[in-house]
Amino acid sequence: MKVYLDSIGCRLNQSEIETYARQFRLAGHILVPTAGEADLAVINTCTVTTAADSDSRSRIRQAIRSGTGNVVVTGCWSTLYPDQATQIPGVSSVIPNVEKNSLVPTLLDISEEEFDLEPLARELIPGARLRTRAFIKVQDGCDNRCTFCVTTIARGSGKSRSAKDILKDIQDTITNGESSAKEIVLTGVHLGSWGQDLPSPRNITTLINMILKETDVARLRISSIEPWNLDEQFFSIFAEPRVCRHIHLPLQSGSATVLRRMARKTTPESYAEIVSKIRKTCPEIAITTDLIAGFPGETDQEFSETIDFIHEINFAGGHVFTYSARPGTSAANMPNQVPHQLRKSRNAELRRVFAKSAEGYERRFLNQTVEVLWESVTEMDSNSWSMHGLSDNYLRLKTRAAKNLWNQITPVKIKKFMQKGLVGEIQGF
Ligand code: SF4
Repeated sequence: MKVYLDSIGCRLNQSEIETYARQFRLAGHILVPTAGEADLAVINTCTVTTAADSDSRSRIRQAIRSGTGNVVVTGCWSTLYPDQATQIPGVSSVIPNVEKNSLVPTLLDISEEEFDLEPLARELIPGARLRTRAFIKVQDGCDNRCTFCVTTIARGSGKSRSAKDILKDIQDTITNGESSAKEIVLTGVHLGSWGQDLPSPRNITTLINMILKETDVARLRISSIEPWNLDEQFFSIFAEPRVCRHIHLPLQSGSATVLRRMARKTTPESYAEIVSKIRKTCPEIAITTDLIAGFPGETDQEFSETIDFIHEINFAGGHVFTYSARPGTSAANMPNQVPHQLRKSRNAELRRVFAKSAEGYERRFLNQTVEVLWESVTEMDSNSWSMHGLSDNYLRLKTRAAKNLWNQITPVKIKKFMQKGLVGEIQGF
């Protein structure tokens, strides 16, 4: 059977799609790059914002329009709105999040154990998701109740995967084949809570140390982790050369009063303290974040506190989300919802501030050498390749090379700053 896989939204959805891809291939099926070629399409949806809702619906409709006979929908949007998903003409079934881990065995009517047999060389998923980096899901769900967050409603309480399963997934991903992953990105809804619900509770630092000790992964990226519940040992992991000099710490607001209304378990002071501990171990680390523009009741004063805090922390970059009320969250019913136009103008201002601090971070590395994983490569002529890649400290670089170095890590000297990425020169090739 020919299978098309599509995913909207977060890295967790992406890591689930990678697992489905591997399971379909193990069962002898072929992955195809477009829904039009497929006998079965699986769409993993998202509901984090209203835009993600509408993107999810339109990707389902696109798959149906392309003529795929069998369209299966899963993920957060279809879990929260199963009636809407089922009623889209052409959807064959809707699989809720609680059952998504066994989606492939259920669809193929085979037992889950059949996938635990031999390792299979990693292959990239055809189509839009030609990723060199592998996202490995280590946990799902969250026990917090941030007042804006719909993810925790859609994905339920925190559930950690066992260290054994995670290590096996990583091992399978990094061994065999030219697509074997050189970089593993640990992924979860609330990564820092990993291990708390296991029969013998453990923490994320233990897991990271196990991965470093028991696998030969070339690069390990911590990705996004909430800025609390981090033990003192956590900060020292950035001294390990295989751990990427990058951490994404979602802040959401730089105002203490807004953070309280959001029910975040952090304050600007405790956030700054975490940043300073990480920078003590690794001064050149890239610290990135998420912010919400126009959370209910956000005053001009609170917004300017956020701007000041971004300046204080000096982020290497960040994502800004315009607040959108999600049904079922308590923030949706809070008074003083910020007018849409103001949310948008605050979003634009936050982006400007981030762009400036990102430029400052990038310029620090001019004339320095960094290790780059080449993620996309285009042949220009018979001996010239245009390549784009990512450094361990989250710098986007481009270069020209005499040979195709796709999915390889090479040292690169940074020569020039440009708005759309740094320009580098490969060393020693
Ligand atoms: S910690 Fe993250 S996932 Fe959990 S409720 Fe808050 S925003 Fe949502």
